[in-house]
Formats: sequence, structure tokens, C-alpha cells
Amino acid sequence: MIGTEQSTTAPAAGAPAARDAIVGIDIGGTKISGLIVDDDGTVLARGSVAAPASLGGNAMADAAAALALDLVTRASVRLIAVGVGAAGVVDHSTGTIRAASATFVDWAGFPLADALAERLSVPVSVENDVNAFLLGEVAADRRADDDVLGVMLGTGVGGAVIIDGDLRHGPHGAAGEIGHTPGYSDLVCTCGQVGHLETLASGTSIARRYEALGGDPVTDARAVAERARAGDPRAVTAFEAAGRAVALACASAATLLDLPRAIVGGGVSEAWDLLEPAISDALRTDSPVSGLPLEIAPAKLGADAVAFGAIEAVRRTLVSVTAR
Ligand SMILES: [Zn+2]
Repeated sequence: MIGTEQSTTAPAAGAPAARDAIVGIDIGGTKISGLIVDDDGTVLARGSVAAPASLGGNAMADAAAALALDLVTRASVRLIAVGVGAAGVVDHSTGTIRAASATFVDWAGFPLADALAERLSVPVSVENDVNAFLLGEVAADRRADDDVLGVMLGTGVGGAVIIDGDLRHGPHGAAGEIGHTPGYSDLVCTCGQVGHLETLASGTSIARRYEALGGDPVTDARAVAERARAGDPRAVTAFEAAGRAVALACASAATLLDLPRAIVGGGVSEAWDLLEPAISDALRTDSPVSGLPLEIAPAKLGADAVAFGAIEAVRRTLVSVTAR
């Protein structure tokens, strides 16, 4: 979704003072999206702008801050905090980006939380985008999972894990990076190593795998999905390979950490009908050895998950400050 969408709730003339609100922002390589929700999770305002990733961190912060202010104006709320889900390895305690792909100029080392706090004069928390995705999905489910794995199948493959109710960040902020675990194929990964989960399960990999099996050139996994549904066996095979690899990765993580549930999101998960048969087959033969059932389910929030989760991350911080 590019452009902005008008809020459906306009304040009445002479309305009481604006209520407090947190803005959630999702910063990716091609676009920056944001939203404001009320306490019931109803979206009050939503919008997105192109991400100036090639222009450096300050340009990204300018764009994100302008989007946040636009949303606040349209929703007629008072901004009290901003939550951000950002691509890259994030130091969530300082809100600084630790590492990022080459798409992002001057992003690694950029103090994103400070830069946004300076522009907006409110507290800002920054999470890795896949961590935020998982927080958003779990909060939306209202199931309050204490232990759950998140896997995001997009251009690449990301992962996140909640243990004992909290996100596990790890000493370097890189916990949950299941996309770059080895042993799934003999293909070269985007990171330069061989056989990672990402070589079979990312959208890019599904498209390349389809072509390697003899399919015509395709732009993305969505095109492969259309062909699979039309009966092209090479397209079906590419999705089967992805589904099986995702299930094995989830089973490994679940066995290691005693996780009862995994949530699979990202654009590729929209083809759940094509992934699910191979996931179910793999769970029948390679379920966690504990014998405890592992549920692998598709994400529900779609493109909103990261911004929702960024808001949830702020809420958790506020609760921990005010309740203790
Ligand atoms: Zn890799």
C-alpha cells in the first residue's frame, strides 16, 4: 500500500481534549508504514511513504517523523510515544541499528531512537522488525503465548522468539535468526554461506527455485503461487520445498526450546494453501521428540503486524515502568 488512507473517525467540533496515543512505525527498505490504533485495536489512521534508504539514516528519520506527525493530525490524538520496528539488527536498549543490509546507506550505527525522539519530543522504542511482527501477532491473538516462535518469509527469512512471555534478544540482538541456520539445501544463501533455510523458503528463493526446475522466469513468489494453483508441478514443488524446510526449522526450534507454537508471516505466508500440505507432512514425520504437539499457524495481521507490534513493545515498556 502506497500513499495515505484517510482516518474514518473525525473529531466532532468542540470535542474534548485529544486522547493519548502511540504511533507504530514499520521501517523497511522500500517503504515506511505507520498506524495508530485505539485500545480495542481499531486502526484510527494509517499511512505509508517511500523509504529514502539510499539517502542515509537522517533522511529515513525525517520521513518517519513526518509520517508520524501526519497520522497524529489525521487521528486527532496527542502523541505520547513512538514504537518502531526496523529492518536490521537492533540494540533495543538504546534504539541504535547495529547491522543492516547494503540496501540501507548509513543505517548500521545510526541512533534511530534518539534521532526520532529529537524530532518528535516523545519517548521512542526501536525493535527489530521481525521481533515487532511477533509481538504484534501474539498481542492480536489475545492468547498471551508465553513461548512462541515467529518466522517471517519475505524477501529474506527472519525469525523471532518469545520465551517466558518476553522477547529473547540475545547478547547481540540477533536471537531468532532462523533464516540463516544451515542444512536445508546445497544452494548459496544471500549471506554467502550454503544451505540456509532462506535458500528454500524466502520469496526470492521460491522464484529462483521454480526457474531452476525449468519454469519460465518469474518476478516473485506470488507469480509462482499463481502457477502452482493453476497446476504447474514445478511451482508446486518449489512451495513444497519451502513448506518442508520451514516445518523442519520450526520443529528444531520447538525441540530445543519447548515451544508449542510457531507463527509464520511475511508475503510468502499468503500462499498458506501451498505451504500447509508440506508442513503437515513434515510434522507427521519430524515432530518434536518430546511428543508434545507443535502448532504451526499463518500470521493474521498481514502488512500491519510490524507497526502493531512496535506499539505493543512501547506498551510493555510503559506497563513495566508504571506497574513496578
Ligand atoms: Zn544465510
